[in-house]
Amino acid sequence: MDSGTRKLDLVRYYARAAPWLLPHLRDRPVSLVRAPQGLNGEVFFQRHSTRSPIPEVTQHEGLDPGHPPLFTIDSLEALVHVVQMDVIELHTWNAVAADIEAPDRIVFDLDPDPALGWDRMIEAAQLTRTMLGDLGLEAFCKTSGGKGLHIVVPLVPGAGWDEAKAFARAVAQRLASGWPTQFTATMGPEHRKKKIFVDYLRNVRGASTAVAYGVRARPGMGISVPIAWDELADTTGGAQWTLANIDARLAHVKRSDPWARYARVRQSISSELTLRLEEGGA
Ligand code: ATP
Ligand code: MN
Repeated sequence: MDSGTRKLDLVRYYARAAPWLLPHLRDRPVSLVRAPQGLNGEVFFQRHSTRSPIPEVTQHEGLDPGHPPLFTIDSLEALVHVVQMDVIELHTWNAVAADIEAPDRIVFDLDPDPALGWDRMIEAAQLTRTMLGDLGLEAFCKTSGGKGLHIVVPLVPGAGWDEAKAFARAVAQRLASGWPTQFTATMGPEHRKKKIFVDYLRNVRGASTAVAYGVRARPGMGISVPIAWDELADTTGGAQWTLANIDARLAHVKRSDPWARYARVRQSISSELTLRLEEGGA
């Protein structure tokens, strides 16, 4: 593993982070990034259960028709087993297994052109927050543990996947048309020059995003860390927190959880809201 990080360090971190991590993992289909030979060896992405499933994980038949079961990590025991199986990253769906056709969150993945300064990223996240706020939606921000930020909008389940995607696309396109020098909603580096790509396709059925408090299988081992909006201006990058400096951050979170309100937010999207955005009337 990178920079002398032993598996034990990873297990220890995940066990420490579990009180804040597990609520975002529980009952949510999860994909894994495994690195059996460390970060310099082969790294593979696993969406489905194998013939010898990881102990303690919960298997869910039939959620992904035509494929082996999906699985969820519902306990500290399961989490520890998963990490012991050379897993570094955990990516979760936008819905829980018990209500798989009704997403309970929307994720906007903000990906900067590598040439862009971080201050532009901060601005972009604030603009996204303001736009969602104007629609009556409270949003939450986390570092990706990589290059960017993730903006998460919790929802009371109700709308289906198609509606979630249409809404996310409308938001992304509205950002791109309103602030064309800042944002693009079109994938591909040629569209992103000096801009930030708002990836709304994280909101289709089966898509997943690195979980809050999850470690990344990248050099430096960044961690995706929830922040409060009033902390955003002081952030320095998507991989500001890593396995090496996360302890102080967890101590802070213990005193004051930046996402304390997350589970209490009651809000939803609707096709009317999407239509309003598409027509430019919102
Ligand atoms: P960054 O801030 O650096 O962009 P990120 O977490 O936003 O980090 P990626 O790690 O590049 O983005 O992941 C992109 C998407 O692809 C995520 O939705 C992830 O779940 C998915 N993904 C990652 N690796 C694989 C893979 N090997 N196969 C299929 N999907 C993957
Ligand atoms: Mn990203």
